[in-house]
Amino acid sequence: MTVSASTPTTKSRVLIAGATGFIGQFVASASLDSGRQTYVLVRPGLAGCLSKSKVVKSLHDKGAIILHGSISDRENMAKILKDHEIDIVISAVGGANVLDQIGLVEAIKAVGTIKRFLPSEFGHDVVRAVPVEPGEQMYKDKRVIRELVEKYSIPYNYICCNSIASWPYYDNKHPANVLPPLDHFKIYGDGTVKAYFVAGTDIGKFTMKIVDDVRAINKSVHFRPSSNFYNMNELASLWEKKIGRTLPRATVTEQDLLDIAAENIIPESIVASFTHDIFIKGCQSNFSINGPDDIEVGTLYPDEAFRTVDECFNDFALELKDTAMDLGSKANAAPNHAVESMALSAPC
Ligand code: NDP
Repeated sequence: MTVSASTPTTKSRVLIAGATGFIGQFVASASLDSGRQTYVLVRPGLAGCLSKSKVVKSLHDKGAIILHGSISDRENMAKILKDHEIDIVISAVGGANVLDQIGLVEAIKAVGTIKRFLPSEFGHDVVRAVPVEPGEQMYKDKRVIRELVEKYSIPYNYICCNSIASWPYYDNKHPANVLPPLDHFKIYGDGTVKAYFVAGTDIGKFTMKIVDDVRAINKSVHFRPSSNFYNMNELASLWEKKIGRTLPRATVTEQDLLDIAAENIIPESIVASFTHDIFIKGCQSNFSINGPDDIEVGTLYPDEAFRTVDECFNDFALELKDTAMDLGSKANAAPNHAVESMALSAPC
C-alpha cells in the first residue's frame, strides 16, 4: 500500500491556542474537520464576551476538548501537553501576544515529545519582509520566537499565508469581517502591485495538511496560489462586477500610508505599515521561494484547489444582498449605502 506523505496513518492530537481569534477559528475548525482529536486552549475571562463564548461553544459542539490557561504559563502548559499526550501544537495568538509564546516554547522543550509546533505567524515571511514601524515590532517579536524554536531544535512550520481574501482595508486587521467598499475605492499607490489572497478556510485546511506532512518539516510554507494573485485595480474591477456598478477611485499615496503608520495608533498603524509593505513595496512577491527551508504549498498538494478570490467576492455579494434585505424588512426602505463597511460578524 502506498501512503502519501500528507496522509498520516494515525491521527495526531492537536492543541490550538488562539482558537477564539480570527485565524485560530479557521485552524480549529479545519483540525476538527480533519478528524484529529482537537484540544482548544481558552484563556479565562470570556464571560463578558458573547461572541467568543459562542465560538468556544460551537467548537465544543463540534468535538473540541476545551482546556483553560494562558500560553505564557510554562508550568501549566507543560502539564497540559503531558497529560493530554499532545503531538502537535498550533498557536494563533494575536500580534500583541506573540512574546507570550516564550512560555509555550519553554514548555514544549521541557516535555520533549511534540512532533510539530506552528508558532503564530500566518502572514508574511518575517525574516524577509521589513515593514516600517510599528509593524516591524511584531515581526521582531515573531523572529524572537523563531530563534527560540530553532535553538531548542523543536520541529516546526512557519505558515506564510500572505493576505486574507477580502478588500485590504489599510486600517482594519480583520478585513474579511467587513464588506468591500460600496461608495468608493481607496487605491494604494498606482494600484498595480500584486499580492496573494487566501480564503480563511484554506488557511485552516492547508495548515492542517502541513502539520504532519514529513516533506514540510522545519520549513517556511508559502501560500502563493497563482489564481489569487491580484493588484488593487483588479480587485476593484472584480468587486464592481459583483455589485453591478462602478465606483470612484481615490489614491492613497505611499506617503499617506507612511503618515498613518507614524501616528502609531494600534492596531491601525500596524495595518497601515503592512499595507505599505504589501501594496507599495511588493513584499509578498519580491523574492523567490528557493531556499532549502522554503516550500510552496501548491507544490506539496498540486491537486488541491484553493478557493478563488472570485468565489470569496461572490460570498461578500451574497452577504450584501442578505444584509440589504434584512435591513429592508426592518426599516422597510434601506438604501444600499446603509450597509457600507458593515461588519459581517461582531468582534469583541
Ligand atoms: P486575534 O486577535 O483575532 O485572536 C487572538 C487569539 O489569541 C484569541 O483567541 C486570544 O484569546 C488568544 N490569546 C492571546 N494571548 C493568549 C495567551 N497568552 N494564551 C492563550 N491564548 C491567547 O488574532 P489574529 O487571528 O488577528 O492573529 C493571529 C495570527 O495571525 C497573528 O500572528 C497575526 O499576525 C496573523 N494574522 C494574519 C492575517 C492575514 O491576513 N494573513 C490577518 C490577521 C492576523 P482571548 O479570546 O482570551 O483574547
